[in-house]
Amino acid sequence: MRAVFRCTVACALCFVLLISTFPVLHVRADEGYGGRVALTFDDGPHPGRTKRILALLERYSVRATFFILGCNAEYYPEPLELAVKMGHEIEDHSFDHKTKGKTADELKNSITKTAEIIERVSGRTPRYFRPPEGASTPALDEALSALGYEAVFWTVDSRDWTGKPAKAIARDVLKTVRDGDVILFHDYTCPGENTLHALEIIVPVLLSRGYRFVTLEELYACAK
Ligand SMILES: [Zn+2]
Repeated sequence: MRAVFRCTVACALCFVLLISTFPVLHVRADEGYGGRVALTFDDGPHPGRTKRILALLERYSVRATFFILGCNAEYYPEPLELAVKMGHEIEDHSFDHKTKGKTADELKNSITKTAEIIERVSGRTPRYFRPPEGASTPALDEALSALGYEAVFWTVDSRDWTGKPAKAIARDVLKTVRDGDVILFHDYTCPGENTLHALEIIVPVLLSRGYRFVTLEELYACAK
Protein backbone atom coordinates (compact mmCIF):
# COMPACT_ATOMS: atom_id res chain seq x y z
CA MET A 1 0.00 0.00 0.00
CA ARG A 2 2.85 2.33 1.01
CA ALA A 3 4.62 1.56 -2.30
CA VAL A 4 1.48 2.47 -4.24
CA PHE A 5 1.22 5.76 -2.32
CA ARG A 6 4.88 6.58 -2.99
CA CYS A 7 4.40 5.85 -6.69
CA THR A 8 1.32 8.10 -6.84
CA VAL A 9 3.18 10.96 -5.15
CA ALA A 10 6.15 10.50 -7.49
CA CYS A 11 3.89 10.53 -10.57
CA ALA A 12 2.11 13.68 -9.34
CA LEU A 13 5.47 15.39 -8.81
CA CYS A 14 6.63 14.38 -12.31
CA PHE A 15 3.41 15.79 -13.77
CA VAL A 16 3.80 19.13 -11.95
CA LEU A 17 7.44 19.31 -13.07
CA LEU A 18 6.50 18.56 -16.69
CA ILE A 19 3.75 21.19 -16.73
CA SER A 20 5.95 23.86 -15.17
CA THR A 21 8.82 23.31 -17.63
CA PHE A 22 6.62 22.94 -20.72
CA PRO A 23 7.00 26.45 -22.23
CA VAL A 24 10.76 26.51 -21.69
CA LEU A 25 11.15 23.22 -23.51
CA HIS A 26 9.42 24.44 -26.63
CA VAL A 27 10.29 28.08 -27.22
CA ARG A 28 13.68 29.50 -26.38
CA ALA A 29 14.40 33.23 -26.49
CA ASP A 30 17.37 32.72 -28.84
CA GLU A 31 15.35 31.02 -31.59
CA GLY A 32 15.28 32.91 -34.91
CA TYR A 33 11.55 33.62 -35.04
CA GLY A 34 11.01 34.25 -31.33
CA GLY A 35 8.34 31.55 -31.10
CA ARG A 36 6.35 32.88 -34.05
CA VAL A 37 4.47 30.42 -36.25
CA ALA A 38 1.95 30.95 -39.07
CA LEU A 39 -1.36 29.16 -39.47
CA THR A 40 -2.35 29.01 -43.14
CA PHE A 41 -5.63 27.87 -44.68
CA ASP A 42 -6.08 26.81 -48.31
CA ASP A 43 -8.98 26.52 -50.75
CA GLY A 44 -11.64 28.74 -49.13
CA PRO A 45 -13.61 30.71 -48.50
CA HIS A 46 -16.29 28.22 -47.44
CA PRO A 47 -19.70 29.58 -46.35
CA GLY A 48 -19.73 27.67 -43.04
CA ARG A 49 -16.30 26.28 -42.19
CA THR A 50 -14.35 29.48 -42.81
CA LYS A 51 -16.67 31.45 -40.52
CA ARG A 52 -16.38 28.90 -37.72
CA ILE A 53 -12.58 28.88 -38.00
CA LEU A 54 -12.61 32.70 -37.96
CA ALA A 55 -14.71 32.68 -34.78
CA LEU A 56 -12.22 30.33 -33.10
CA LEU A 57 -9.23 32.45 -34.14
CA GLU A 58 -11.00 35.57 -32.87
CA ARG A 59 -11.61 33.91 -29.49
CA TYR A 60 -7.82 33.63 -29.03
CA SER A 61 -6.95 36.91 -30.85
CA VAL A 62 -5.00 34.90 -33.41
CA ARG A 63 -4.21 36.16 -36.94
CA ALA A 64 -3.73 33.72 -39.82
CA THR A 65 -3.21 33.66 -43.58
CA PHE A 66 -5.84 32.44 -46.04
CA PHE A 67 -4.83 31.24 -49.51
CA ILE A 68 -8.11 31.62 -51.32
CA LEU A 69 -9.51 30.36 -54.62
CA GLY A 70 -11.02 33.11 -56.74
CA CYS A 71 -14.01 30.94 -57.73
CA ASN A 72 -14.96 30.31 -54.08
CA ALA A 73 -14.53 33.98 -53.23
CA GLU A 74 -16.98 34.86 -56.02
CA TYR A 75 -19.55 32.43 -54.61
CA TYR A 76 -18.95 33.25 -50.94
CA PRO A 77 -17.74 36.83 -50.53
CA GLU A 78 -19.05 37.20 -46.97
CA PRO A 79 -16.52 34.99 -45.12
CA LEU A 80 -13.73 36.63 -47.11
CA GLU A 81 -14.92 40.10 -46.10
CA LEU A 82 -15.13 38.93 -42.49
CA ALA A 83 -11.57 37.55 -42.61
CA VAL A 84 -10.30 40.90 -43.93
CA LYS A 85 -12.22 42.81 -41.25
CA MET A 86 -10.66 40.61 -38.55
CA GLY A 87 -7.15 41.44 -39.78
CA HIS A 88 -6.20 38.17 -41.46
CA GLU A 89 -3.86 38.11 -44.44
CA ILE A 90 -5.36 37.01 -47.76
CA GLU A 91 -3.16 35.46 -50.42
CA ASP A 92 -3.61 33.77 -53.79
CA HIS A 93 -4.15 30.04 -54.47
CA SER A 94 -5.31 30.42 -58.14
CA PHE A 95 -8.84 30.89 -59.45
CA ASP A 96 -10.00 27.27 -59.68
CA HIS A 97 -7.17 25.10 -58.26
CA LYS A 98 -6.28 23.92 -61.76
CA THR A 99 -2.67 24.63 -62.63
CA LYS A 100 -1.31 21.42 -64.14
CA GLY A 101 -1.03 21.43 -67.93
CA LYS A 102 -1.77 25.16 -68.20
CA THR A 103 0.37 27.65 -70.05
CA ALA A 104 2.07 30.57 -68.32
CA ASP A 105 -0.50 32.95 -69.84
CA GLU A 106 -3.44 30.86 -68.62
CA LEU A 107 -1.89 30.73 -65.16
CA LYS A 108 -1.27 34.49 -65.13
CA ASN A 109 -4.96 34.98 -65.93
CA SER A 110 -6.04 32.63 -63.11
CA ILE A 111 -3.73 34.29 -60.56
CA THR A 112 -4.62 37.84 -61.62
CA LYS A 113 -8.39 37.18 -61.53
CA THR A 114 -8.00 36.04 -57.92
CA ALA A 115 -5.70 38.94 -57.04
CA GLU A 116 -8.33 41.40 -58.33
CA ILE A 117 -10.91 39.94 -55.94
CA ILE A 118 -8.45 40.17 -53.04
CA GLU A 119 -7.60 43.78 -53.92
CA ARG A 120 -11.26 44.71 -54.22
CA VAL A 121 -12.15 43.24 -50.82
CA SER A 122 -9.02 44.05 -48.82
CA GLY A 123 -7.44 46.99 -50.64
CA ARG A 124 -4.16 45.09 -50.51
CA THR A 125 -2.23 43.42 -53.36
CA PRO A 126 -1.36 39.79 -52.58
CA ARG A 127 2.33 38.95 -52.72
CA TYR A 128 2.41 35.21 -52.03
CA PHE A 129 1.09 32.33 -54.11
CA ARG A 130 0.66 28.80 -52.83
CA PRO A 131 0.78 26.32 -55.72
CA PRO A 132 -2.24 23.97 -55.60
CA GLU A 133 -1.15 20.55 -54.27
CA GLY A 134 2.30 22.07 -53.76
CA ALA A 135 3.09 21.38 -57.41
CA SER A 136 5.53 23.66 -59.22
CA THR A 137 5.81 23.62 -63.02
CA PRO A 138 8.04 25.69 -65.34
CA ALA A 139 4.91 27.49 -66.62
CA LEU A 140 3.86 28.36 -63.08
CA ASP A 141 7.35 29.58 -62.18
CA GLU A 142 7.29 31.77 -65.29
CA ALA A 143 3.85 33.20 -64.42
CA LEU A 144 4.80 33.91 -60.80
CA SER A 145 8.03 35.61 -61.73
CA ALA A 146 6.29 37.75 -64.40
CA LEU A 147 3.67 38.84 -61.85
CA GLY A 148 6.19 39.36 -59.03
CA TYR A 149 4.79 36.69 -56.71
CA GLU A 150 6.70 34.54 -54.30
CA ALA A 151 5.72 30.85 -54.11
CA VAL A 152 5.01 29.75 -50.54
CA PHE A 153 4.72 26.16 -49.41
CA TRP A 154 4.63 24.92 -45.78
CA THR A 155 6.87 23.30 -43.21
CA VAL A 156 4.17 21.36 -41.33
CA ASP A 157 1.34 19.61 -43.16
CA SER A 158 -1.61 18.93 -40.84
CA ARG A 159 -2.83 16.38 -43.40
CA ASP A 160 -6.38 17.43 -42.54
CA TRP A 161 -7.20 16.83 -46.21
CA THR A 162 -6.85 13.04 -45.68
CA GLY A 163 -9.91 12.91 -43.41
CA LYS A 164 -7.80 12.24 -40.30
CA PRO A 165 -9.72 12.55 -37.03
CA ALA A 166 -9.29 15.89 -35.25
CA LYS A 167 -7.38 14.40 -32.30
CA ALA A 168 -4.86 12.74 -34.64
CA ILE A 169 -4.35 16.00 -36.57
CA ALA A 170 -3.77 17.87 -33.30
CA ARG A 171 -1.43 15.20 -31.90
CA ASP A 172 0.76 15.15 -35.02
CA VAL A 173 0.93 18.94 -35.42
CA LEU A 174 1.76 19.46 -31.73
CA LYS A 175 4.47 16.80 -31.95
CA THR A 176 6.23 18.41 -34.93
CA VAL A 177 5.71 22.17 -34.73
CA ARG A 178 8.83 24.31 -34.15
CA ASP A 179 9.78 27.97 -34.13
CA GLY A 180 9.14 29.65 -37.50
CA ASP A 181 6.90 26.92 -38.90
CA VAL A 182 4.26 27.52 -41.57
CA ILE A 183 1.40 25.12 -40.83
CA LEU A 184 -0.93 23.96 -43.59
CA PHE A 185 -4.67 23.53 -43.01
CA HIS A 186 -7.72 23.66 -45.27
CA ASP A 187 -10.93 25.58 -44.66
CA TYR A 188 -12.85 24.20 -47.62
CA THR A 189 -11.98 20.72 -48.86
CA CYS A 190 -11.74 18.71 -45.65
CA PRO A 191 -14.53 16.42 -44.61
CA GLY A 192 -16.66 17.46 -41.62
CA GLU A 193 -15.26 19.82 -39.04
CA ASN A 194 -12.01 17.95 -38.33
CA THR A 195 -9.87 21.01 -39.03
CA LEU A 196 -11.91 23.20 -36.68
CA HIS A 197 -11.88 20.63 -33.87
CA ALA A 198 -8.13 20.07 -34.30
CA LEU A 199 -7.57 23.83 -34.05
CA GLU A 200 -9.63 23.94 -30.85
CA ILE A 201 -6.88 21.74 -29.35
CA ILE A 202 -3.82 23.12 -31.18
CA VAL A 203 -4.29 26.87 -30.67
CA PRO A 204 -4.56 26.95 -26.84
CA VAL A 205 -1.80 24.35 -26.40
CA LEU A 206 0.67 26.25 -28.60
CA LEU A 207 -0.21 29.52 -26.84
CA SER A 208 0.45 27.83 -23.49
CA ARG A 209 3.84 26.69 -24.82
CA GLY A 210 4.76 30.30 -25.54
CA TYR A 211 4.18 30.36 -29.31
CA ARG A 212 2.77 33.43 -31.06
CA PHE A 213 0.61 33.19 -34.17
CA VAL A 214 1.42 35.68 -36.90
CA THR A 215 0.58 36.18 -40.56
CA LEU A 216 3.05 35.13 -43.25
CA GLU A 217 4.13 38.73 -43.91
CA GLU A 218 4.89 39.16 -40.21
CA LEU A 219 6.71 35.83 -40.02
CA TYR A 220 8.95 36.57 -43.01
CA ALA A 221 9.54 40.17 -41.86
CA CYS A 222 11.07 38.97 -38.60
CA ALA A 223 13.43 36.60 -40.46
CA LYS A 224 15.07 39.48 -42.32
ZN1 LIG B 1 -5.43 23.75 -52.47
